Amino acid sequence: MPYKRPQGTSDILPEEIKKWRFLEEQAREVFDRYGYDEIRLPLFEHTNLFARSIGEATDIVEKEMYTFGEGKNQVSFRPEITAGLVRAYLENNMHKQRAFRKLFSIGPAFRHERPQKGRSRQFHQLDVEALGTIDPHLDAEIIIMAHQFFKKVGVENHEIIVNSTGCPGCRPAYREVLKKALSPHLAKMCENCQNRYERNVFRILDCKKDACKKITAETPVITEHLCSSCGPHHDKVIELLGKYNVPFKSDARLVRGLDYYTKTVFEIISTSDGLGSQNAIGGGGRYDGLIHELGGPELGAIGFALGVERILLAMGEENAATADQEINMVYVVTRGDEEKDFAFEVIEGLRNAGIKAEMNYEGKSMKAQMKAANKSGARFTAVIGPSELENRSVNLKNMETGEEKKVELEILAEAVDK
Ligand code: AMP
Repeated sequence: MPYKRPQGTSDILPEEIKKWRFLEEQAREVFDRYGYDEIRLPLFEHTNLFARSIGEATDIVEKEMYTFGEGKNQVSFRPEITAGLVRAYLENNMHKQRAFRKLFSIGPAFRHERPQKGRSRQFHQLDVEALGTIDPHLDAEIIIMAHQFFKKVGVENHEIIVNSTGCPGCRPAYREVLKKALSPHLAKMCENCQNRYERNVFRILDCKKDACKKITAETPVITEHLCSSCGPHHDKVIELLGKYNVPFKSDARLVRGLDYYTKTVFEIISTSDGLGSQNAIGGGGRYDGLIHELGGPELGAIGFALGVERILLAMGEENAATADQEINMVYVVTRGDEEKDFAFEVIEGLRNAGIKAEMNYEGKSMKAQMKAANKSGARFTAVIGPSELENRSVNLKNMETGEEKKVELEILAEAVDK
């Protein structure tokens, strides 16, 4: 083929769409139950929005964005949804009507990463954000909701890793403690971590290299250095998660790849074997400074993003059912070309009555049409031959029971419905 799709992108074919729709429907149902409203946003934003929120010294902003144009006109495909959603919340004055808003958005995000199983350059997120409060009950609520969603789609094998990342009040002191503890071991660490030491020392805690992991296992943890605001907040979140039976694990070394997080951070991991290293099916946290950072008032917020492709992989691992929906479909089969006009009238009548209907447009034999009807999953076939044409009726066959009867066009929709 002369044209191929760009590396790291996928065509989501009709056979797979059923699963995608199922997932999105379940997400909408759960998010709605918890009071979240849907919002739809541009796929690209001004680059400086991402630089300002996600952080200049993060992998995402430094290396992974698809960026076009210069200066004030420079835009990037969104590498995540939160920044654009907060921008929209402020730009549309939603915070003035009602500061506390729960919003969600579903759609693609783009990162120029090295593609592998579970990691692509265009991927899809279910993004959920609760804006306008610092209440720790909301941290617990949003994590409980994520857990409920995973249970609902059949991803039972998951674990939620929780930590606090502190705030601008307590983080600087911990940064120094961490740097001091790491400094004697710097030479033994990987090159990437040596670079991170000055620029973004917390990311060292996240390094997957054995040598670095051995060193960070011994360093002081942030949860012992939280301030009088972050400490009790974290305790309350942990208490609530325990009380509501969320399968969570505290890990004081969990850091996230985005700078805007404060206090609670979490990641949801699929514990099925098949996902390999890309087993994070979601992640999120609180970002109490971001609304103000982007020009709004001092308001707290928390959110998460789940990765659709990885959830589908996890569902496959667990053989999760995607609930086949029974549809009332009629496939009209004709003996020859003479019946075509009438067949067209029949399918249009059915569709008008709200019933899915299809016929053959390719001049296929009756046998081939019956085969196509079978393959389509139609519940009924409606066969039209010369006698049916003459008295404006069809021979309606229930594909499941094999039962057949002649039905006049006038009452066909009614008969199918019954
Ligand atoms: P992050 O905010 O980077 O943790 O992203 C949230 C979720 O999006 C992750 O837990 C993944 O499930 C998903 N995700 C992030 N990057 C990718 C990618 N390159 N390919 C597929 N899924 C991704």
